Amino acid sequence: MMKKTAIQLAKQKKKRKPLKGIKGVTCTTCGGNTMDYTEDLVFDCYVLGERIIIPHLTGLCCRVCGEMGYDAPSSDIIDQYMHEKVTGGYEVTVSTLSAGKLGIYFPKDVLRTMDIKAKIKAIIKPITKKKMIIELGT
Ligand SMILES: [Zn+2]
Repeated sequence: MMKKTAIQLAKQKKKRKPLKGIKGVTCTTCGGNTMDYTEDLVFDCYVLGERIIIPHLTGLCCRVCGEMGYDAPSSDIIDQYMHEKVTGGYEVTVSTLSAGKLGIYFPKDVLRTMDIKAKIKAIIKPITKKKMIIELGT
């Protein structure tokens, strides 16, 4: 439902109808003319096991059933954020350390944000042929 509403709102934007201050828009869920403009929508979901909360989004909210629809700028913010979350990461090159041993150097940005020291133990958990989790010990 949320997606459908977002598409509808995007269409409204194309017609250059500003949403700000709008009241009594027909709700796609309960059918009442009970959707009002708000600047206090919150996007809340889980991506890759991490909770993402984006507050202060604009759009419409139904005062009866609570159905929400983000307007075009807010939808853009969500899309951008989700894209960064899913595709984000640090690109590194696998290097040859010695015969039969490969290694990855952690980029400086990773070292800055994580608690990594030389000589600590780490556990590598292969998830698929292309994905692994590295858990650092102490
Ligand atoms: Zn409703």
